[in-house]
Amino acid sequence: MSSLPCPCGSGASFAECCRPFLRGERFPDTAEQLMRSRYTAHVRRDPAYVLRTWHPDTRPAPEKLGDLSAPQWRGLDVTSTEDGGPADAEGVVTFSAHYEDGAGNPASLHETSTFVRVDGEWVYLEGSQFGG
Ligand SMILES: [Zn+2]
Repeated sequence: MSSLPCPCGSGASFAECCRPFLRGERFPDTAEQLMRSRYTAHVRRDPAYVLRTWHPDTRPAPEKLGDLSAPQWRGLDVTSTEDGGPADAEGVVTFSAHYEDGAGNPASLHETSTFVRVDGEWVYLEGSQFGG
């Protein structure tokens, strides 16, 4: 279990990558780490983590987010990052998240996400999707 690769595709094991974030044992140092952990929370169907890492001004109602039971996520590619480091107050991460659509065909979601800090910890502020 502990040696399973992390769903976020970082190359590290789940135990050493996103699990401590999902458990609230650690906080991400960078916006990219937070973005990856939120992807992992989708894969592991952990809506509570997705909500608590969402900026309070833009966070959806829990019933709107749902239980994350769909779609089936198949992988993550982080294509670029801008700021979002340990000394930054804001960061931008562009990524492609791959999944299977309702018919089982491969599909991808492309998004540029903005992250800021609340009480010193990274949260997701907003994102804009593009392409297809
Ligand atoms: Zn991870």
